[in-house]
Amino acid sequence: MSELHIVFGGTFDPPHNGHIALALAASERFGSDVWLMPNGRPRHRVGPQVDAETRAELVELAIADHPKLHIDRREISGVVTGELSGYSVDTLEALRRELGPEQPIAWLLGADSFRSLHQWHRWERLGELTHFIVVERPGEALDDLDPELGAWANGRWRDHPSALAKASAGLLYRLPFTPRGESSTAIRQRLKAGDDCSDVLPAAVSADIRHGDLYGSGTAGSASSLQSDQGNEL
Ligand code: ATP
Repeated sequence: MSELHIVFGGTFDPPHNGHIALALAASERFGSDVWLMPNGRPRHRVGPQVDAETRAELVELAIADHPKLHIDRREISGVVTGELSGYSVDTLEALRRELGPEQPIAWLLGADSFRSLHQWHRWERLGELTHFIVVERPGEALDDLDPELGAWANGRWRDHPSALAKASAGLLYRLPFTPRGESSTAIRQRLKAGDDCSDVLPAAVSADIRHGDLYGSGTAGSASSLQSDQGNEL
């Protein structure tokens, strides 16, 4: 089996130090590179404050100092061209076609996202396409799952990371990770209030946001809210 291909999907509105710490922790644990994949059209909220291309540029700034982290723009470009719906399952079908049926793929996500997995579009198909690497988030435990999700997850958890590289999809791994409090929602609120958030943002991201006043009042972006399901689904 080849090295695990780790995808870290998110809105990254904006990308923060918690995202980077999480991606680095997964990369180190699995000895693999991690691909941060900004989503095209989040459906679960009114819409990102900045457009997809700008969020992708912020992700590029955030990962610039980390050679094991990369950006995967397939979802934002696929949504623009109409080749992808924006649902994670369709993006993963495309990735699976590209990498082949044997390649181990894992989707990295926080407990808040994982807890709503059963609400993602065609969610059971997801488990045929990818593993999931999950981390706890303050206030978002991994026990006490929704019964439908809990029943599906039962028997899929593995204690050792090497198990995920031995199968192409369908397993769960809980990544040891000291919980971190950063949240893009809280950061947007602080930015709007004039705080530079340099304590929770990579320096280059903070500088770019300040330079473009990306999250200042009255600068709401252009993205519409149609399809996607990472994070807290409706
Ligand atoms: P928001 O606060 O607006 O929901 P976010 O900080 O969760 O944003 P996203 O881009 O939605 O940022 O998150 C992408 C992924 O990263 C999700 O799976 C989310 O659970 C995870 N994540 C984000 N921040 C953290 C954190 N502090 N600890 C653990 N996981 C996190």
